[in-house]
Amino acid sequence: SKMLYNDQIMERDNVIDIEDRGYQFGDGIYEVIGVYDGEPLMMDEHMQRLERSARELRLTLPTLVSDIKNKLEKLVEANGLVEGIIYMQVSRGIASREHGFPHPDTSAVTVAYTREEKRETSLENQGGKAVLTDDIRWLRCDIKTLNLLPNVMAKQKAVENNAVEAILHRGDIVTEASASNVFMIKDGELYTHPANNYILNGITRRKIIQLCDELNLKVNEQTYTVNDLLNADEVFISATKLDIIPILKVDDHVIADGKPGEITNQVLQAFRSLYQKSVKN
Ligand code: PLP
Repeated sequence: SKMLYNDQIMERDNVIDIEDRGYQFGDGIYEVIGVYDGEPLMMDEHMQRLERSARELRLTLPTLVSDIKNKLEKLVEANGLVEGIIYMQVSRGIASREHGFPHPDTSAVTVAYTREEKRETSLENQGGKAVLTDDIRWLRCDIKTLNLLPNVMAKQKAVENNAVEAILHRGDIVTEASASNVFMIKDGELYTHPANNYILNGITRRKIIQLCDELNLKVNEQTYTVNDLLNADEVFISATKLDIIPILKVDDHVIADGKPGEITNQVLQAFRSLYQKSVKN
């Protein structure tokens, strides 16, 4: 298949330099964009978040995001991708290994590839289990950086416990999950951690909040505790491509009656309608 390397669409190859700062320091940013029916979903929102991540890390993007967007669309086309994801990252570039920023002439390195991936419809419909784990990440979780080791360790705990996700908590406060945002529902209202430095403000999360507004469902962007989570009426996680997955059990604790909830389902149906033409089940 084809990849994007800087401004060129080429055969996928091992072109990463060992002194790429993304490789050595995790010094870079990334986005994962869902593709449904050959169309990237919410591409502009992803590009805006990429710009923000770059700005926060003082990383100069090599081109306008409109050019990147254009190239990513060409890549989807070149690979004939129908359903899957685009992974793209921008590192601070290739330079002799010093922690401080490289010479200003060093240009950032953009790479992207696509992956075919079916939606997790059975998990979306049936729900899954999550584990709890300490949120040991840094204090700028709002930036989508390549530094994902705490997320990797958390997710591995989920994998080893046959869970779909690891829900993170900082002290008593539920922040998000290893690669998704967390919503809980109590007495007909949704709660999710405010979009500050403690979480990544998911594109899916933002869209859900917007959809809830249209559905007249109240969303409280407010912190809540682990105890609130365990005593919720419904819990779900949200992320690109995963969409919305009901969480029925957290560690050994069954959430409410242990079945996917009504509001979760309502939000899931509304979310699916965003790419309705590709929905087959
Ligand atoms: N939180 C974290 C830590 C993530 O890695 C992700 C990415 O998938 C999300 C939340 C969800 O973000 P999005 O909906 O933009 O995929």
